[in-house]
Amino acid sequence: MANAETSAGAATADIGVIGGSGFYSFLEDVTEVRVDTPYGSPSDSLFLGEVAGRKVAFLPRHGRGHHLPPHRINYRANLWALRSVGVRQVLGPCAVGGLRPEYGPGTLLVPDQLVDRTKTRVQTYFDGEPLPDGSVPNVVHTTFADPYCPEGRRTALKAARGRDWAAVDGGTMVVVEGPRFSTRAESRWHAAAGWSVVGMTGHPEAILARELGLCYTSLSLVTDLDAGAETGDGVSHTEVLKVFGENVARLREVLFDVVGALPATDERDCLCTHAHDGWDLGFELP
Ligand SMILES: [Zn+2]
Repeated sequence: MANAETSAGAATADIGVIGGSGFYSFLEDVTEVRVDTPYGSPSDSLFLGEVAGRKVAFLPRHGRGHHLPPHRINYRANLWALRSVGVRQVLGPCAVGGLRPEYGPGTLLVPDQLVDRTKTRVQTYFDGEPLPDGSVPNVVHTTFADPYCPEGRRTALKAARGRDWAAVDGGTMVVVEGPRFSTRAESRWHAAAGWSVVGMTGHPEAILARELGLCYTSLSLVTDLDAGAETGDGVSHTEVLKVFGENVARLREVLFDVVGALPATDERDCLCTHAHDGWDLGFELP
């Protein structure tokens, strides 16, 4: 499937997709590129291919074979690696649990807010750690009131509609540490707070993208009703995999339509590109 390469070299891409092999394995011409970063290795190689006339870098979030649990993913290396091959817009498809009865399995939601309930993850590049070139990131407080790219969200919703998939426009994703699923009490709490879906990987992916000036859009596929709402036996991993598998083909179609419809890199003027206007970062973005 892939032509192996040992380093990034001159490899380039405009758009990054953080998701499993179900999104790229059937592409005809895929180049595998290994990228190292100051933060260590990303989850896997980048897989570069062309979709809808755009150059796309696919990164299996959990590594091929799905060996990395959400709390062990090197999120900083993942986003850094994507940016270092030229990516400026990132699509983050992921599986989530629905916190409302109307968001049953098969619902596609494009969130506009997130809540962080993770516990152990490094969630910034601005931590004063020197980089290999000797530069030291300054203390920078990134504006994050709107965590997702408005342009990417619009594009995703339109693409879903074009495939007769009535995606939910907006909602709050609460991100938990995992890898276990929620208790019923936690699930009731998350729902009572008015949040929409629960996931395990949406944070710190979105903030790290923002810190690197990347556009980030989440496409959240509901695979289960979290903790079975008030009835049922609760979420099982088997159920999640089954529903994701049933929907991966149409999610891929929507993703590829989004890829084709995203603005060109140098035409972006969204809030993501202005996140650090007026700040001295202290280091060069990759
Ligand atoms: Zn943006």
